Amino acid sequence: MGKYTCHLSKSNIAPCVFNRPGIENCPMRIAPEILEEAKKIYKDDEEIKVITKNASIVEAAGYIKWPRLKDTIEFAKLQGYSKLGIAFCVGLTNEAKEVANILERYGFDVTSICCKTGGLSKSDVGVPKEYEMKSKTGYMIGTVTCNPVAQALLLNDAKTDMNIIVGLCVGHDISFTKYSNAPVTTLIAKDRMTQHAPASVLFTHYGKSFFSEDIRNQKKN
Ligand code: SF4
Repeated sequence: MGKYTCHLSKSNIAPCVFNRPGIENCPMRIAPEILEEAKKIYKDDEEIKVITKNASIVEAAGYIKWPRLKDTIEFAKLQGYSKLGIAFCVGLTNEAKEVANILERYGFDVTSICCKTGGLSKSDVGVPKEYEMKSKTGYMIGTVTCNPVAQALLLNDAKTDMNIIVGLCVGHDISFTKYSNAPVTTLIAKDRMTQHAPASVLFTHYGKSFFSEDIRNQKKN
């Protein structure tokens, strides 16, 4: 078990919502100094202070009324951003076009970079040969690697104010975020199996069966 387990909170509406500590290992009981540290950061770090405030304003303004893309647009406007970057997966080129089109209609200057930019081969980043041509499910995935570092460097070169992830792979999103100078937000979390709706597997019969079987198989191996 982890040091803090907020997910084990006894009610669906956690006591911290009412500024009260909850279960035994609640951070509000056992780590008040860390919570103080966070509070100090909101006070001292001007960028974080403004971003956090504006995120909450957007949350309240569009609550259950706006799609995430509209949240992103309104957040960017509040931040005073004019140049937006899109780091997209080649498999979501149509989605990236649509996102760019909408952002431009709202008046933003949009720069976009596809994940395969640079044409770097997978062997150049240490991908074993057997993973070069085919995925484990048998679909062709090619020999050119995703290049999230180049996506970040190119968007840095374009001096974007904020970068938006459109379907980067798990892990490539980490490399991208690490090298992006501008703050990064995710619009589309890639999930090929669920049409990019990762939460959809959590409460469906098929999603639950999938994980039960997969965990059983992993224990066998
Ligand atoms: S009350 Fe404490 S343990 Fe429960 S969710 Fe909030 S911070 Fe986590």
